[in-house]
Amino acid sequence: MELKFYNSMSRSAEVFHSLVPGKVGMYTCGPTVYNFAHIGNFRAYLFEDFLRRTLEFAGYEVTQVMNLTDVDDKTIRGSQSTGKPLKEYTKPYIEAFFNDLKMLNVEPAAVYPAATEHIPEMKALIQALFDKGIAYKSEDGSVYFSVDRFADYGRLAHLDRSQLRSGVRIANDEYEKESFGDFALWKGWDEKDGDVVWDAPWGKGRPGWHLECSAMSMKYLGESFDLHTGGIDNLFPHHENEIAQAEAVTGKPFVHTWMHCAHLRVNGQKMSKSLGNFFTLRDLLDKGYTGREIRYVLLSAQYRQSLNFTFDALAAARTALARVDECVDALNVRVKENRADDGVRVASQLEAFGAALGDDLNAPEAFAAFYAFIRAANSALSQGLSSAGAQAALDELNQMDRVLGFVNFGRAVAEEIPAEIQALADARAKARAEKNWAESDRLRDELAAQGWQVRDSKDGQTLKPLAK
Ligand code: AMP
Ligand code: ZN
Repeated sequence: MELKFYNSMSRSAEVFHSLVPGKVGMYTCGPTVYNFAHIGNFRAYLFEDFLRRTLEFAGYEVTQVMNLTDVDDKTIRGSQSTGKPLKEYTKPYIEAFFNDLKMLNVEPAAVYPAATEHIPEMKALIQALFDKGIAYKSEDGSVYFSVDRFADYGRLAHLDRSQLRSGVRIANDEYEKESFGDFALWKGWDEKDGDVVWDAPWGKGRPGWHLECSAMSMKYLGESFDLHTGGIDNLFPHHENEIAQAEAVTGKPFVHTWMHCAHLRVNGQKMSKSLGNFFTLRDLLDKGYTGREIRYVLLSAQYRQSLNFTFDALAAARTALARVDECVDALNVRVKENRADDGVRVASQLEAFGAALGDDLNAPEAFAAFYAFIRAANSALSQGLSSAGAQAALDELNQMDRVLGFVNFGRAVAEEIPAEIQALADARAKARAEKNWAESDRLRDELAAQGWQVRDSKDGQTLKPLAK
């Protein structure tokens, strides 16, 4: 299966090849745990989940690493305003984040390294940059990366910044630097930071944000690895600076493929904390939507297209998923009916599905292949699909669901048909075949008394639990 991804580094769609055959190392910029993540953030994490599941669908073994930024201006400010130690302040947000990932059926990463647990690795990287003459200490006690002293820095400008529309973070530490583009590797201790401080040979302080991602990704994935992802606002300056730090030390290409998702928008604006136009997952769950429906909506657009969040889309997801459930339920019932195999199978859509995924994760096309299969399965069911044919269709839906993650996840569990109910239904089918209408009516009433409704179609009968 061929996979083509748009690489922000080369500014083109490239056929993906992993550095080690059959294995992929993937690093994902994770949350800053000072608050609950909003569903804009989850668009990014779901794009990454979709990417990872696509790689697995294509047969790769994926090692995904996602960092937790648990020390920065916002986490420090939050811990101070609540009077809690930093770790105590971030803990509930880390727990909420993992719960939210579960609610959205996101496959867990192999490691979730926290910045505060990797200070030695970050200090080692700074030391190496000092040794190379690229890091320098400024009068305020901070350590900066010098873009002028790193001859290769200019080359990095080829990360495709033209994709950026809004939301670029500009560091607010513009003083005491040799050059405008220099960025902090280490922030010298400031009274405002209180007791959030670590010792280092160049003076006490705390690490800069960009540094944690270079240090932790290389620790877990090696000096060169396959994929690095994030939202488009991570592209510059964060990712550019990550590359500079890593390559200045190793002299090797840091990451092969860079992928960035477009923003989730609300009324034409980026969903963000600072604009106040955001919903957390909890907000939507409280309104009665499910993680499954939210997953469906956030995955439904191609990741590089901006997606406008609406409640209409959530309502449409509910209707769409009900149709999917109906089909899956009917296939399950058919499997249990023991209809003789006539060799008829629902025409497979797996090839179209895989081709859509391989086309830079074209989710709308992949959804289209999935629905083409659902439609074909419904029509096969009404034309007497055998039990083996129904099982084969369920197997194919399960394969697609390895990537989609919303077919089986979080759905109301179809009620098992108890054996005695099935026996009554079989007896009724026999009575009907023998045109013994009195007996068939009696059995229908008997089933109803036991809480099961029989529906007849030209194709036979189906059983449904009566609404309680
Ligand atoms: P942050 O916690 O702000 O560092 O963001 C965590 C991740 O969410 C990053 O990959 C961001 O690029 C991404 N992100 C933030 N806002 C949005 C949005 N509205 N739509 C999509 N991704 C976003
Ligand atoms: Zn990062």
